[in-house]
Amino acid sequence: MRVFMLILFTVWGIYILLPYLYSRVVPWLSSKFRRNKRNANMNHSPMHSPRIVRSLPRGRDNVALTFDDGPDPIYTPMLLDLLAVYHIRATFFVVGERALKQPELIQRMAEEGHEIGVHNYQHWSNWLLPPWSTSRQIAHTATIIHERTGKWPIHYRPPWGLLNIFDIFRSHVQYVLWSVMVNDWRARASTVDTIQRRLSQQVVDGAIVLLHDCGRTIGARRNAPMFMLQALSEWLKNSKDKWSFVTVQEGLAAADELEDSKRVVYTHATHTRATPSNNAASLQHRIHTLLASLWLAWDRAVLRLLRIQPVHPQHPFLQVRIRAYTGKHTLHLNDGTVVQQGDHIAEIHLNNRMIYTIGQSSPSIMQMMVTLLRLFQPALSQLAAYLRRHPMGAQVKAVYGISLLHQPAERFGFTVLDVHNLLFSRISSWYLRFVLRLLRPGAVQQRHQPDRRSEPNRLRRENGARNSRKPASSPQDRRADERWKPKIIVISTSKLYRMYPVDSSDAG
Ligand SMILES: [Zn+2]
Repeated sequence: MRVFMLILFTVWGIYILLPYLYSRVVPWLSSKFRRNKRNANMNHSPMHSPRIVRSLPRGRDNVALTFDDGPDPIYTPMLLDLLAVYHIRATFFVVGERALKQPELIQRMAEEGHEIGVHNYQHWSNWLLPPWSTSRQIAHTATIIHERTGKWPIHYRPPWGLLNIFDIFRSHVQYVLWSVMVNDWRARASTVDTIQRRLSQQVVDGAIVLLHDCGRTIGARRNAPMFMLQALSEWLKNSKDKWSFVTVQEGLAAADELEDSKRVVYTHATHTRATPSNNAASLQHRIHTLLASLWLAWDRAVLRLLRIQPVHPQHPFLQVRIRAYTGKHTLHLNDGTVVQQGDHIAEIHLNNRMIYTIGQSSPSIMQMMVTLLRLFQPALSQLAAYLRRHPMGAQVKAVYGISLLHQPAERFGFTVLDVHNLLFSRISSWYLRFVLRLLRPGAVQQRHQPDRRSEPNRLRRENGARNSRKPASSPQDRRADERWKPKIIVISTSKLYRMYPVDSSDAG
């Protein structure tokens, strides 16, 4: 039990600690780089915004006011009025479930030129959320914003600015943190005076200021926005001419000369895959490569530990180990074969190193799949030859694997079955998605994309399901989830031998 807790804490530590460091180092490096670039007079070359920003580029006296946790039925309209008085455009990081309840405020924000970003569907920390849940939180909120405004949000701010390790791999998401925090939500620390004083002292050229227009989150004072509004109003009286107030998008686009319409929180997937064009991107690339090599080292260790061997020394695409089937559920195959607990099976694994290399050199996920499938067919005949040769081969009843590629597997004669153990299914789904993202960042989202953009929005509106929507998955979600759910693929040895008869090259 103690060991289990230790492992649990270690895993959780990695889950939160690495991204915590990452979210601090990357923005720092990129802001440093931006400055160097300016000095080197290289402003003209288009460059990508780094994926995590804490501040805007300096030199234009730009300041971005950002408001989290809303919309709030009482304070948000007051804030919008105040901003309108000074003709200030700001950025709102809204909580999806609150946006759903206040659609008219979301509309008003958009109409008055403010930027709307995502702050999760519920105000939960990504440190406590599993990766699939974070994806849903972002997607649902993005969809709500799109439905109200016709625009997809570009920026995402995780609650409390905390990322988990999987957030780093969300290549389609632009994270916006902050450089100025005045503790406006706190019960004790925030009086009108202290907030105003901190704003005056801390706001500098390029600042992204964190404020809150809703006090309903854990740790916040319910009426805190009242103090914030008064302090902001006072501060603006003196500083409205000192700074040029911009939305985050405007502040970043000004420096990047980048077509922002292309960068969208949920639907944008391939953009950041382009060759790393600045330090932050190349650091990201290096971290990515480091993680990939750690994963491959771990993979190699597992292969050795479990004595998984390639089916052919020269063609190691398919790897195998012969073991007894331990599953509680009896497997019923299409050809009538039944595999029960204790029967011998050949468990297959694809060679991850080869897949990684193919993934790196393929221009698209489809291309990668095509290459993989081309390798699969000859590998199966090598597997047949391997089993014929193997001393235990005669006892092996079936070939067994867990795979995301179950649709193509069916074409190769495999029976596709559901994974019964839910926990195992979750963990392997998680792992396989992680691997897929490591191979081709954004691949999972790319496949989701058409579903998100067109049909569901229209359908939901027609159903009049406006205000009753929960973060439950839509039919489209479920179909896409099904596609990415790992399944058992299994083929009886007799069928395998029939489909892949003795090859002359293997006969000797
Ligand atoms: Zn928040």
